[in-house]
Amino acid sequence: MPPLALKHLERELVALRAERDALAEANVRAAELMAELAEARALEVELRRRSEEQGLQLDLAAVISAARSPEDLLSGALEVLVRASGVDVRGGAAYLHDPDPRVLRRVAGEGPDAIAAAGSADSPVQLDGERATLWIFGHGRCTGALHLRVPGSLGWRDRWLRVLDGVAAQLAVALDRALFARENLTITTELIKARDRAEQANSAKTRFLANVSHELRTPINAIVGYTELLEELCEESGDREYLEDLRKIRTASSHLLGLIGGLLDLTQIEMGRLSLRPTRLSISTLVGELRDIVTPLAVTRGNHLAIVADEAPEDLIVDPRALRQCLVNLLDNACKYTDRGRVTLRIGAADERVTFTVEDTGIGIAPEQQRLIFDVFVRAEDPAVLRRGGSGIGLAITHGLVAAMGGELTVSSTPGQGSTFAFSLPRAGT
Ligand code: ADP
Repeated sequence: MPPLALKHLERELVALRAERDALAEANVRAAELMAELAEARALEVELRRRSEEQGLQLDLAAVISAARSPEDLLSGALEVLVRASGVDVRGGAAYLHDPDPRVLRRVAGEGPDAIAAAGSADSPVQLDGERATLWIFGHGRCTGALHLRVPGSLGWRDRWLRVLDGVAAQLAVALDRALFARENLTITTELIKARDRAEQANSAKTRFLANVSHELRTPINAIVGYTELLEELCEESGDREYLEDLRKIRTASSHLLGLIGGLLDLTQIEMGRLSLRPTRLSISTLVGELRDIVTPLAVTRGNHLAIVADEAPEDLIVDPRALRQCLVNLLDNACKYTDRGRVTLRIGAADERVTFTVEDTGIGIAPEQQRLIFDVFVRAEDPAVLRRGGSGIGLAITHGLVAAMGGELTVSSTPGQGSTFAFSLPRAGT
């Protein structure tokens, strides 16, 4: 070959080699671009799925917060999940636990009316062909289940199953809360009904007590009156043979009359019919009256009575009969439950109120009884109390009267050392 042609061929070869290298380089670049494109597509799919998952979480949160019942919650969750899985709504069902813990009943969707509770809290999603069951567990027991169709064509099946796994825990907490709220509601409704029944029974009892006391008062008044008359006749005629018996009849029937009067007061307080007549009452008058009434009671058991009113205001506006009755009740109790001790009434002043405190050094009241003694007919279960006689209505009346006058009766006591009852009333009345 002539040297010129050879040279030409060599140049062509160099050019071809350069072209081949450029082509190879372009191929590599194209492959790189393809890989980048695939990566971008995968990223796009991933982002779409994430946003779908977030959407599902938001929808589920909305269902959980809006659900007004366990049934609402499960059917709402079923709808969200079916929608998110892209499967026809008819492909699922929701089940809620029956009172029988082994059975779940259908509350939404289509499928058998009842299924047996199964599954485990550790692996809540069970796959059976194209059907997934999401078992919901609360406090170690199966409380509900969702049947969902998971078609094999679903590209992200494994991931979807993982999503269901996470949803199970969320639903378990929400269903627990909804079941608890329903239980609470049932209990509250029952409690309200029981309270209403108790109130009805209580007002029937109050009406009965009011009627009976009223009916008894008239004949007992007659017994007291006629006994007094007979006593006078016997004394006038000098016939003393029956005098002692007549005195016993009068004492017993007067006691009965006092008791019935107390019951009537109590029923008036309970029916809210108590009418108070406040007037100005001088403390020194009150102290004088109390001393006259209570001294004989104190003497009976060898008690020393003291009334301390140095710090008391001059007077207060109050219903005198009601206040006197309260203080006599408290002092009477103090004298009755104290032997050879001290009974002290202190009257003082604090913040425009007049304070009354009755202290004794008597048998005291056990802490568990202190909450109960203001209830009518309650007496401490203590032989030392029971042998002293009483009816258990004095403190109930006092408590009601003090409340009606604008105060609150309180007690503090140490068994074996004594008791203190206290209340205060507005000085200017209510
Ligand atoms: P009672 O007629 O039984 O005294 P109350 O209603 O006045 O009825 O008192 C109710 C109960 O409270 C009494 O039975 C007694 O157990 C207890 N109690 C009241 N006052 C005293 C007191 N000063 N010391 C000890 N126990 C008391």
